[in-house]
Amino acid sequence: MPLKLKYGTITWETPNCDVLQKNGWLCFDLHTHTNYSDGSATVNDVVKRARNGGFGVAITDHNEFRGSKEASLNKDVVIIPGMEFNSFEGPDMLFYFFKQQDLESFWSRVVNGNLRSDPHGRTNIHLRQMCELSRSFRCVVAVPHPFCVAWKNLPSFLERQKAMRLLEDIDAIEVLNAQQSRNANVAAIEWNKMLGKAIVGGSDSHTARELGSVVTCAKADSITSFLHAVQKKRTAVVGNPKWLNVMLGRLACLYNHRTHASVESLDLLIKHARHRLLGESLGKF
Ligand SMILES: [Zn+2]
Repeated sequence: MPLKLKYGTITWETPNCDVLQKNGWLCFDLHTHTNYSDGSATVNDVVKRARNGGFGVAITDHNEFRGSKEASLNKDVVIIPGMEFNSFEGPDMLFYFFKQQDLESFWSRVVNGNLRSDPHGRTNIHLRQMCELSRSFRCVVAVPHPFCVAWKNLPSFLERQKAMRLLEDIDAIEVLNAQQSRNANVAAIEWNKMLGKAIVGGSDSHTARELGSVVTCAKADSITSFLHAVQKKRTAVVGNPKWLNVMLGRLACLYNHRTHASVESLDLLIKHARHRLLGESLGKF
């Protein structure tokens, strides 16, 4: 683990947030989901995992604020109020707020009323409006997984629409996302070299075990100073996405979503699969 991170660097290593914190870096997993949207982790799972890992969290459920609100009541882990907002066209945006009330006011003024049949799917808010909103509210906005699957791929959408100027209102690009392939993450890094935006990263976790696999670090001591550091491009990203985790995490999420069955039985299945495939101890899962 590099003790001397620099702003603007991306380190492909498993983060050790305790060590980073001792060296003055505050670490946040800026992209996580709970069972308030399409994740299987409860807010308690997230808080517990984050407390043990020594990092803060932004719970960014799709078009939702309740997970973030519930988590903000805990006393041990710093929670940045956040939301992954799904656009009408497909690509998403990550919104981060300085205060929980600001997130809730954003939800009631903008999101609620523009939800469609699936409240965690596409909304009636167009990308153009979404980018404009980023300047009407006190918040920080990032593009998650820019080179995600076709309908969520923002660069190709902007190219087709000749709308690159929409990015003027965006603060940051998620250059490392633990759900994305290495190629997709490298493409995001290269894209941002051209754009020159701030860098952020997150696990995009849908199960508790993926949490903290990618973190964004800044020399900060509060939510406000951390978000200001993002705005000033004074962040570093550390993470080590593992394809098997990604696959198994997705499976768990799909399973939970489709059947609403208890995810515990699948957890056990995954535990045994990892034991067989990776030689991991059954006890330490
Ligand atoms: Zn997400």
